[in-house]
Amino acid sequence: MKIGFIGLGNMGGPMAANLAKAGHEVAGFDTAAPMPEGVSKADSAAAAATGADVVITMLPNGKILRGVADQVIPAMAAGAVLCDCSTVDVDSARAVAEQANAAGMGALDAPVSGGIGGAQGGTLTFMVGGPDAAFATVQPLFDIMGQKAVHCGEAGAGQAAKICNNMILGVTMIATCEAFALADKLGLDRQKMFDVVSTSSGYSWSMNAYCPAPGIGPKSPADNDYKPGFAAELMLKDLNLSQDAASSAGADTPMGRQARDLYAQFVEHEDGRGKDFSAMLPRFNKLNG
Ligand code: NAD
Repeated sequence: MKIGFIGLGNMGGPMAANLAKAGHEVAGFDTAAPMPEGVSKADSAAAAATGADVVITMLPNGKILRGVADQVIPAMAAGAVLCDCSTVDVDSARAVAEQANAAGMGALDAPVSGGIGGAQGGTLTFMVGGPDAAFATVQPLFDIMGQKAVHCGEAGAGQAAKICNNMILGVTMIATCEAFALADKLGLDRQKMFDVVSTSSGYSWSMNAYCPAPGIGPKSPADNDYKPGFAAELMLKDLNLSQDAASSAGADTPMGRQARDLYAQFVEHEDGRGKDFSAMLPRFNKLNG
């Protein structure tokens, strides 16, 4: 396939490289990042999109996505598919899809989970919103960049799945960290705490797969001095998106709001920026004295 790839940062760079390695013809554009191996450099977003069967975007936020969509949609051929893999607000995802549909193109919102390791290894999970035909067109590319693509529903459904998942993740990580900090105060050995909770009703991905206590459970960022991993400021971005979506949809999400406020405090007023989101545990330990 002929692919235009816009946004070649930490995630987009390796994703584009994997597509090129698999034999696709990839034209890339980024305002700052270098071209990954095998990707030819286009002079603009519109140039990368011209003649492409699929245009993939991997950008920082919804405002930038809307700006890039304004440039690429007029350059795309009718029948081509615009596939946004960034994590953005549901409203931007739906607006861009409508704009693309009105111009005769397919559109998908296809945010990912799996982080930079997943992008490099081609093991991402895609959660996808948009019509069946567009999903079928892009599926072979999802198979190269990832291990799984779940078609979640119409436009915006992929972003909805992503922010709901990450809202659960933010809340359970905080719950796991505050419980460890309480266990410390109560004199309970951390390994015993893990042995019990990881096989009891308090278990979760945060406890079992990404344990925030160093030296306990499988290897995680806690074992690497809380270097990300998944940075606290990226968790804050996703929790802001879920709270924005909750207010525009009229949903009550009190735990999501608490989690957002706590990560905002950690990142903006404490020393959380640049640390993994599981560094909530040493934060609670410090507060607890
Ligand atoms: P990044 O900042 O490394 O990459 C974004 C790239 O977009 C940068 O290279 C930047 O120069 C480029 N860019 C910005 N404006 C542009 C424009 N107008 N035209 C062309 N290029 C432009 O970020 P990332 O870590 O690659 O994340 C990308 C997206 O993926 C974000 O939405 C993020 O929330 C999401 N995401 C990231 C991770 C992760 O672990 N990093 C995991 C899942 C999802």
